[in-house]
Amino acid sequence: VTVLIDIGTLATCPPDAAAQGEIGLIERAALVWDDAGAIVWAGPEAGVPAAYADFPRESARGGLVVPGLVDCHTHLAFGGDRAGEFVARLRGADYLAQARQGGGIAATMRATRAATEDELLDGARSRLAAMLALGVTTVEAKTGYGLSLDAELKTLRVYEHLAADVPQRIVPTLLAAHTVPPEFADDRAAYVRLVCETIIPAAAGRAVFCDAFVEVGAFTADEAERVFAAGRSHGMTPKLHADQLSDTGGAALAARVGAASADHLEYVSEAGIAALAAAGTVAVSLPIATLVLGQEPLPARRLLDAGVPVAVATDFNPGSAPSLDLHLALWLACTRQRMTPAEALAAATSAAARALGLAGVVGSLVPGARADWVVLDAPDVDRWLYDFRPGRVRRVVISGRTVWPGP
Ligand SMILES: [Zn+2]
Repeated sequence: VTVLIDIGTLATCPPDAAAQGEIGLIERAALVWDDAGAIVWAGPEAGVPAAYADFPRESARGGLVVPGLVDCHTHLAFGGDRAGEFVARLRGADYLAQARQGGGIAATMRATRAATEDELLDGARSRLAAMLALGVTTVEAKTGYGLSLDAELKTLRVYEHLAADVPQRIVPTLLAAHTVPPEFADDRAAYVRLVCETIIPAAAGRAVFCDAFVEVGAFTADEAERVFAAGRSHGMTPKLHADQLSDTGGAALAARVGAASADHLEYVSEAGIAALAAAGTVAVSLPIATLVLGQEPLPARRLLDAGVPVAVATDFNPGSAPSLDLHLALWLACTRQRMTPAEALAAATSAAARALGLAGVVGSLVPGARADWVVLDAPDVDRWLYDFRPGRVRRVVISGRTVWPGP
């Protein structure tokens, strides 16, 4: 057992909070975890139970302690980059037009297929190291740039390897239904069959979630439903890229198939919001992509007012969101979506954990949860997300073990 004292402010971010802004703040707090890396007690320092009096103590030196951050939507491993397309867009090119001309996802698909497993591994590993220094202790990681049996499985093997190798918890998602690869352009039904009958069975046991991009130019709701049914029968819970570029009824589809989350939602309808609320589906906001694509942000206030939990993630990917900075995403959630700093913190902890089926396991500092926590150089949550400033992370702990800065 170890006891952390001298916590200026502790945000426990309980998984069962009645409202997203209720983040369980305790001033002058202490935190206790056991040798298996699980939280056993959290509360005011003056109230530490006598049973823990004789165990070793560590000091948070007055810092703000929050749960380890959860990035619940990333496209972590891929080949190449798309800096050329970025510059072309700055000169006036259009994102969708680039995709139609063989750029966009198809460009990254070619680079990912050409990359060796080690090359993909090295790229993803260095990104995870940068995320760790930002306090990100759980990372969802999607495939979706392979779009063939071999290349999708190659990406899943990279995530398996990383899970055994890096301090963070990696949650793999199969996104074979990201886009129809060019070789199936004239027979999209054949690609959906390949996904459902070959790729999904081969990925069983390796991916926790099964994701699909439901959009004009990607997959229809009917096609996605077939993918989700195949995923379900192989143990994968649905997640989906929904209503990003137009209202395709993606939110209602997410609710109907029992998805863990509906992600993007820039164009979500009132009916979609009501469906998410009724189903208890988490809405995942991806404000970096919204900003890069010059879109109006998702209506976070309307979602929260309807009782839909709103998580915030980076959507880290080489095209629409080439930043892995979850702090930046949270600051954008405040400035552009009018989420309060408390709601934004919950969005990257307890709500993000729920989007990954890990509520009460990570993203919360309550008894039984993993002792994943971060010490921030800020007096409180409001000031942490008020002046966007890098270098605020003092210490990152996973399962009770300090993982950053290194020894
Ligand atoms: Zn995405």
